[in-house]
Amino acid sequence: MNILVINCGSSSLKYQLLDMNGEVLMAKGLVERIGLEGAQLKNETTGKEKEVIVTPMKNHKEALSVVLRALTDEKLGAIKDLSEIDACGHRVVHAGEKFSGSVLITDEVMAALEECIELAPLHNPPNITGVKAIQELIPNIVNIGVFDTAFHQTMPKESYIYPLPYEYYKKYGLRRYGFHGTSHRYVSARAAEVLDMDYNNMKIITCHLGNGASVAAIKNGKSVATSMGFTPLEGLAMGTRTGDMDPAIVTFLMGKENLTIKEMDNILNKKSGVLGISGVSSDFRDIENAADEGNERAQLAIDIFRVRVKKYIAAYAAVMGGVDAVVFTAGLGENSPVDRKNICDGLEFMGIKIDDEANNVRGKDTLISTKDSKVKVLLIPTNEELMIARDTKEIVEAL
Ligand code: AMP
Repeated sequence: MNILVINCGSSSLKYQLLDMNGEVLMAKGLVERIGLEGAQLKNETTGKEKEVIVTPMKNHKEALSVVLRALTDEKLGAIKDLSEIDACGHRVVHAGEKFSGSVLITDEVMAALEECIELAPLHNPPNITGVKAIQELIPNIVNIGVFDTAFHQTMPKESYIYPLPYEYYKKYGLRRYGFHGTSHRYVSARAAEVLDMDYNNMKIITCHLGNGASVAAIKNGKSVATSMGFTPLEGLAMGTRTGDMDPAIVTFLMGKENLTIKEMDNILNKKSGVLGISGVSSDFRDIENAADEGNERAQLAIDIFRVRVKKYIAAYAAVMGGVDAVVFTAGLGENSPVDRKNICDGLEFMGIKIDDEANNVRGKDTLISTKDSKVKVLLIPTNEELMIARDTKEIVEAL
């Protein structure tokens, strides 16, 4: 079964084509600058030359038709004909409280996702556009929705209700939803596999540390707590997002600087985090280079980031009454031994001990704790696309 996985951002589109007999990657690619000048597609078919196509792409539908042409290109494509694609799995960020798992996309599901636009105004519209474009370009194909929020729908009420007047939960759906669910689900299940332990009888803390970052507590295969909230702004300090802070700062700053809602939102989401603290960059590599050269604010940004991850690990161990495994994943989690080491430093009291030699690794499944570490610490590269393809296959097979 060949499955096309689509992940549409506001001006970008990532895709993978996978042969699910053996979970083999057939092709992958990225379209950038959709709707802007200089739009381009980078396509890579396994075993063939990489291809860059620069052509105007006004919207996601145009971008997808360029992608489908590249996939079926006689010389550099992965397939001869679109009929070789059996189903399409779509990443959709927000499904509110409506779905706790992946689903076949029907008209009712589309309507439900449209209703969630209010909850994810930046993410859901391009995701929905991607589904519509595939429906038009490959009319008979089965489309499956895989939601970032779904995995966290198992959280108990004490994890997801905010201490606000309860009526706002009822009126506006104001609650914690959590994000990166597909990634937390994939790496936690994979960690159990690597450790040869029973996923449904384990306490795991997963740290997805990328430009957006979140931590999740997974008990017996179910998410019971996560650091992102009503939106992906809560929790850790991120590339450009504040994470946790006193909510009174918002009204204080709006008053002092005479800010509109939009301007305040922009500060919280785009100008804060490690970028805001360091004044250097939102990219941890730049910040770490600056810190190495003696930039104190860059070092402060790193310290704030690390201590917050550490706090969540300890807090989630408390929430679950212990922890068997801590997992690091995503850009920084997969590639930065020094951050993993520093985050775990000081957690020896709860049975976490890093093996410096084993930890000196990037991007592959690895046990990085010492043999006598009570809690196992792992690096597991995330693979959201594979998870989406697996869900798609499972649902299609059950149809
Ligand atoms: P992601 O959002 O998962 O693509 O992760 C992107 C983030 O990972 C960026 O902030 C990168 O700076 C960070 N990152 C990638 N490689 C490294 C590295 N070797 N050391 C530190 N951070 C890294």
